[in-house]
Amino acid sequence: MVSTTADAIVVGAGVIGSSVALELARRGLTTIVVDRTGGAGHGSTSASSAVVRFNYSTWDGVATAWESMHCWEKWSEHLQFRDDAGLAAFHATGMAMIDVPEAPRERVVPLFDAVGVPYEEWDAAMLRARIPGIDAGRYWPPKPVDSDEFFAAASAEVGALYTPDAGFVDDPQLAAHNLASAAKHAGAEFLFNTTVVEVTQRGDRVRGVVLADGTRLMAPVVVNAAGPWSGAFNRLAGVGAEFTIQVRPMRQEVHQVRAPRGYNTNGGLGPAVADLDLGVYFRAAAGDRLYIGGTEPRCDPLEWLDDPDLANPNVTAERFHAQVMRAARRLPDLTVPNAPTGVVGVYDVASDWTPIYDRTDLGGFYVAMGTSGNQFKNAPVAGRFIALLVEGVEGGHDHDRDPLRYRGEHTGHEINLGAFSRKRPVNNTSTGTVMG
Ligand SMILES: Cc1cc2nc3c(=O)[nH]c(=O)nc-3n(C[C@H](O)[C@H](O)[C@H](O)COP(=O)(O)OP(=O)(O)OC[C@H]3O[C@@H](n4cnc5c(N)ncnc54)[C@H](O)[C@@H]3O)c2cc1C
Repeated sequence: MVSTTADAIVVGAGVIGSSVALELARRGLTTIVVDRTGGAGHGSTSASSAVVRFNYSTWDGVATAWESMHCWEKWSEHLQFRDDAGLAAFHATGMAMIDVPEAPRERVVPLFDAVGVPYEEWDAAMLRARIPGIDAGRYWPPKPVDSDEFFAAASAEVGALYTPDAGFVDDPQLAAHNLASAAKHAGAEFLFNTTVVEVTQRGDRVRGVVLADGTRLMAPVVVNAAGPWSGAFNRLAGVGAEFTIQVRPMRQEVHQVRAPRGYNTNGGLGPAVADLDLGVYFRAAAGDRLYIGGTEPRCDPLEWLDDPDLANPNVTAERFHAQVMRAARRLPDLTVPNAPTGVVGVYDVASDWTPIYDRTDLGGFYVAMGTSGNQFKNAPVAGRFIALLVEGVEGGHDHDRDPLRYRGEHTGHEINLGAFSRKRPVNNTSTGTVMG
């Protein structure tokens, strides 16, 4: 029989909600997770490129990603559970971040030094030596691919900042499934194919939620982990007036093509490349494939959505052409196929492309939202942030005045959760792109 009372309800069973459920259940809270889809990770997580990298614009952002990488590296230890479906695997291919004025090395290197992220500084010659077939031209700023300027000669050469420990997780949906299975093992219940349609309150505290079939679930804690639907879910709960950071869904396409000759050298997987100079990122995938996503170049239209459910679910010829052409400028041996292939997903973009992991002014209502196309990698730690917040705030701690700090189990770093506050000043060191 399904429980109708719990210590906590998590709305959303994506990679974030599943991680939150695992950490709450581990702390002994009876936890119910509700998702309107048929399984864990079936929402925006399923479209994720699942790149694990450390280039963020703040110390806390870099430290969070660095701590999380260690969780992916020791995934079965992190789960403490053996999932019959198999385990998602982290591939440390390394990542080269092409030099670009929006994210200058002088800003990133001190953060890497402070956090202890290993890196190599590559000049153009080293870039060519380490990534066979790459074009080390500077094309900044990105131009529309149907303009003559796009084909203009490079203005100079670029180097890159290379992080050998970066890489990707091969199956983001399976990663969410792993977290959900571990959470179930720790005692959490999951209700799928069920939509939360109301948030109930008593005075200034949350009381529970109502499902589409009229079932009432009661809990003193509700966590909004609704992904691109998080803004709508806050509105449903009457939450958000005090937020300085707003969120908005944005449609994205990630294209999947055959990798060019030489990229996956020696049967291995080539390094990921973050290329704001041309407006794309790409990474290897099994079967000699290459996944290509965008970095919101200013010259291309952004696909803001009022409602994530209204996103066109099919890849379009225009976006495919734009992104694959940009990647082909960097990797000239890449063939641009005629027929578009890839996946469509939706980001939950925050004003400064930094997530919100926080309490709210409605007592007992927490948010793990605004993940801005860059928080798959941080999901293992995001669950721990929310568990720490719930424990602290429900225990009477004034997190708004004295932000809680999370000490990383692997790195020992103390991460200030105030960096992810709903009421923070907008982070103006953000690149204003998916890079955060
Ligand atoms: C195309 C794309 C590429 C990306 N690439 C990367 C990358 O390379 N690296 C990286 O770190 N991050 C990346 N991301 C970001 C990352 O994947 C997301 O931040 C992360 O998956 C979000 O997880 P989530 O659990 O918050 O959201 P979701 O996975 O969307 O989960 C939210 C869930 O909430 C459910 N829900 C919503 N409303 C309700 C309701 N009222 N009732 C019941 N259920 C509800 C939905 O069904 C959904 O399953 C990418 C994202 C996309 C879209």
